[in-house]
Amino acid sequence: MFDYSITENCLSNKTILVTGAGAGIGREAALTYAKLGATIILLGKTVSKLEALYDEIIALKLAEPAIVPLDLKGATKQNYIDMSATIVSQFGKLDGVLLNASMLGELTPFTQIHEQIFNDVMQVNVTAQYLLAQALIPTLQLADKASLVFTSSGVGNQGRAFWGAYSISKFATEGMMQVIADEYENSNLRVNAINPGATKTNMRASAYPAEDKEALATPADIMPLYVYLMTNDSLAVNGKTLKAQ
Ligand code: NDP
Repeated sequence: MFDYSITENCLSNKTILVTGAGAGIGREAALTYAKLGATIILLGKTVSKLEALYDEIIALKLAEPAIVPLDLKGATKQNYIDMSATIVSQFGKLDGVLLNASMLGELTPFTQIHEQIFNDVMQVNVTAQYLLAQALIPTLQLADKASLVFTSSGVGNQGRAFWGAYSISKFATEGMMQVIADEYENSNLRVNAINPGATKTNMRASAYPAEDKEALATPADIMPLYVYLMTNDSLAVNGKTLKAQ
């Protein structure tokens, strides 16, 4: 695992938006950030999952989170601009954004990739990330120090047979991260990506249905890197893809 010792309350006074906060790695990251003192904005597709996490955070007597129900497949540029304006009016700034939500599509030979699935994967994993980043960067610039974190994959810098649209979308994600990181070098904003590595979630189960799930890292296991990139300990890190495992 990425070697980082998490200290109590290391995210206090920070407001962090997490996409895909209802399940898997995003849910664990949102809960972990809340436990470390941050106020969390939970963005996701399935409202009931976001509400369940909201209730869990309230039951733990942590800072009250906000819920943003948004389907990245259908959301428009205006939706993201409106969301950013609401965040500024409610919270004043954003200290961190974890762009975690994505879709796998289907694993299939390249010649058999369905155009609709290719387009959906690009919409959710690339276009929505670009629109989110574009709308949220001005809000991140209102913070003293801010961190924008993209989510890549082992197939995000080395292509692999049958990983088609998903792999292509993660290459684009890493490219987007590097472009933004270079533009904002020497600013208050640092921009990086995480490669979580094989992690026990629904997405992993749909990619590898037959594997032994007990051998996999859990979302909780990989949190050190997710926390590190949101704390001031990572202020000097920019334009990097870091492995959580
Ligand atoms: P899950 O499928 O378990 O969770 C994905 C989350 O994203 C869910 O909360 C889901 O919401 C949300 N989401 C999916 N589509 C949309 C959409 N259209 N609009 C809004 N939210 C959406 O995935 P993981 O936790 O495994 O993956 C998290 C990230 O890590 C992804 O970017 C993935 O590519 C990456 N990753 C994961 C690996 C692994 O082994 N697990 C390995 C490498 C990378 P809902 O539950 O409501 O559908």
